[in-house]
Amino acid sequence: MFFLDAKSYLIMAQNSSEMLMINKLLNKNNINTDLVPAPPEWGTVCAIAVKISDSDLEKSKNLLELAGIHTAAILEDRKLKLQGLIDRKLGLIVSEQFIGILKKIENGDELHKEDIVYLLATDKKREIDTIFATADRIRKETVGDVVEIRGAIEFSNYCRKNCKYCGIGGKNSEVKRYRMTEDEIMDVVLYLKSIGLRTVILQSGEDLYWSSDKIVSIIKRIKETTGMRITLSVGEKTFEEYEEFKKAGAENFLLKIETTNRDIFKEIHPDDDFDERLQCSKWLKELGYINGSGNIIGLPGQTIQDIAGDILFFRDMGINMIGIGPFIPAKGSPYENYPHGDIALTLRTVAVTRIVCKKVYIPSTTALASLSKDAQVWALNAGANTIMLINTPLEYRSSYNIYDNKNMVDLEAAVYAVEKAANRKLPSYLKVPGLDSDAKLKGGFS
Ligand code: SAH
Repeated sequence: MFFLDAKSYLIMAQNSSEMLMINKLLNKNNINTDLVPAPPEWGTVCAIAVKISDSDLEKSKNLLELAGIHTAAILEDRKLKLQGLIDRKLGLIVSEQFIGILKKIENGDELHKEDIVYLLATDKKREIDTIFATADRIRKETVGDVVEIRGAIEFSNYCRKNCKYCGIGGKNSEVKRYRMTEDEIMDVVLYLKSIGLRTVILQSGEDLYWSSDKIVSIIKRIKETTGMRITLSVGEKTFEEYEEFKKAGAENFLLKIETTNRDIFKEIHPDDDFDERLQCSKWLKELGYINGSGNIIGLPGQTIQDIAGDILFFRDMGINMIGIGPFIPAKGSPYENYPHGDIALTLRTVAVTRIVCKKVYIPSTTALASLSKDAQVWALNAGANTIMLINTPLEYRSSYNIYDNKNMVDLEAAVYAVEKAANRKLPSYLKVPGLDSDAKLKGGFS
């Protein structure tokens, strides 16, 4: 928050351990820092940059020099300015408040909570259309037209917790439990590598059988055999465990906060504490992970204000990947008979999150795809830029039923979504025979 509106700089390190060293050194010398995604052109050097304010620039440079640290670069962090959001005609149709918000977006100024609530709540058609068009434009300018494709392996559905919305809570006796072996996981990883994917997501319930040693072992094996990037989504762990996984080679971590309303958090998570989950997310960031969070739309008692609070949390925590999915009831869970979350509100949240958080990964979530085949396309048009394939082997898939009727998004579904979404491209790293579709021929980056 201390960076709002002020001029600031990004320190680019040569690699992530140097980035962490720089961050520590500056903090020790009372310089406030923030860890933020590096601009795309620097992403290959180190994905995270250390952000400092203008007033600390000279002091920071001196400290780095004294410590003998040669950074890759120090650049001004420029605001994203957008011209031409408002034309004269629009000014006559939409409210004054809405025009005020658009002006802030044009100037690259930060939005306040009441602005975000307004964008989430307005029911004026012209305003809604403008919100989606703006999100799409910001998506294009910050992360481009390519839709990143990742492959997910849900390697265990054992869970020691009982989150009320989730279908694989430990006490749900209707679930057939499974755990994949390291070899079974590797088979899928090799398939993902063979179709050119660069990132594998390993997700599971909180299964203590999968000790840190076992997780470290699979991370190392994937790294050594394929060199793929690894995203973990295995729940709450200690700082030391997250550190071990990072050292072993995991780069990304998904740990959704689910909701920032503490009362709702407590109600839906009988085994969890909000501050502990928050602490985990802070540790992940501190350790230099590309840090994933997200929320669920349509939780009992959740308001628009709560969702606005979630979006501010993503921004202020410098979250890099934001998964936004509607709640979907799951058989045998405490919320089995609750209604699912609203698709339109989920899409609006995607759009407003893109407008507020700008250069982040936003997946078009499986939960959305599960409510409607086309919802995945709508999310891509609303600001999303990533699709996660479900690559869990057939015999286990239907047992990873965190909610009912889960869409098993496959390559075909992903290609369909990218081709149906306006002007989007498949990544050029995808290598699938017969998949030289129009979408891919249109371009993509290498
Ligand atoms: N155990 C891991 C992975 C959980 S599953 C963890 O705690 O992080 C991944 C995500 O699925 C969760 O973070 C949650 O946001 C989502 N999810 C689970 N059950 C859901 C449901 N019934 N409806 C919508 N999303 C759900």
